[in-house]
Amino acid sequence: MTNPSLDPSLDIPVRAPSATSADDTVLPFEISALDLRGRLVRLGPAVDDILARHNYPKPVAQLLGEAIALTVLLGSALKMEGRFILQTQTDGPVRMLVVDYRTPGKIRACARFDKKAVATMIEAGNATSGALLGTGHLAMTIDQGSANSRYQGLVALTGGRLEDAAHEYFKSSEQIPTRVRLAVAEEFSQGKGQHWRAGGMLLQFLPKAPERMKVADIHPGDAPEGTPGHVVEEDDSWLEGQSLIGTVEDVELVDPALSSERLVYRLFHERGVRVFKSLDIVSQCSCSRDNVEAMLKSFSQDDRDHMVENGKISVTCEFCSSNYLFDPADVVPDPAEAEKESEEQGEASGKHGA
Ligand SMILES: [Zn+2]
Repeated sequence: MTNPSLDPSLDIPVRAPSATSADDTVLPFEISALDLRGRLVRLGPAVDDILARHNYPKPVAQLLGEAIALTVLLGSALKMEGRFILQTQTDGPVRMLVVDYRTPGKIRACARFDKKAVATMIEAGNATSGALLGTGHLAMTIDQGSANSRYQGLVALTGGRLEDAAHEYFKSSEQIPTRVRLAVAEEFSQGKGQHWRAGGMLLQFLPKAPERMKVADIHPGDAPEGTPGHVVEEDDSWLEGQSLIGTVEDVELVDPALSSERLVYRLFHERGVRVFKSLDIVSQCSCSRDNVEAMLKSFSQDDRDHMVENGKISVTCEFCSSNYLFDPADVVPDPAEAEKESEEQGEASGKHGA
């Protein structure tokens, strides 16, 4: 799914590290001595805009923040125009998370959850990410326009963190040794109040010789006691990479006073690290009055009638909470258009009035 090769034209041979964090950016980097490549995402206003707009309970906002950081880490690998969509579907109090990344760097996100169940969990003090999600699956979809450029990878969610699910995904679908770190925090500053921040790092081992990419299987939990785990000697470079990313602290990923370049340098300077041109991220929805109008026109008259309240049809975007208000008469398809569409549909599916 992700294309690990970086565009060489993006290479900047000399780059002075900036002193402070450049928020809402993805910084690609490379440690060629260890055959490691990675990306570091730092999100400030972009993630705060999304989370503040929704005003979700804190643990839900935190979880969605992690999903946003993960989506940006993965979506920013897209080399062509397209979308990357991360979606969870689980049996826990947070039954669905959706994060939508559109090139270049536009994100939107929302969560569906059971208010009462979340409140109960918060009260009991056990509203962890894993518990909020429960079990189900995580789907990651790449959509590059045409039907045959759509790709979906699925991975089970079993009460663990999103980081664990991402590791499992890369192991089973991509077969690229990968480590991911995610962090979300609230920043309190005088005069500016409270704001959400998120950060994440992805590190991948991409040796020229594929036989070096060996990774051990996860120990089968249901095997009889005493069964030895699958032992594979991992490459020394990858072992070193894993131990280095393992030292990244949550606070380093979200610290506004620590720049991405400095963090990458702090972690990998002994081996020599090179950074590439960073990519900007912005919170931006793709809904519009025209889109909503077209959607309403595609509904049956009966469906539209059921949506009328106080003489109006009101539609609120689940991602950005924008509200669109229509006069029912304005969203009735014009008869010529409707006939044409119904003919087209009839030709395509062989039936009318779906
Ligand atoms: Zn919207």
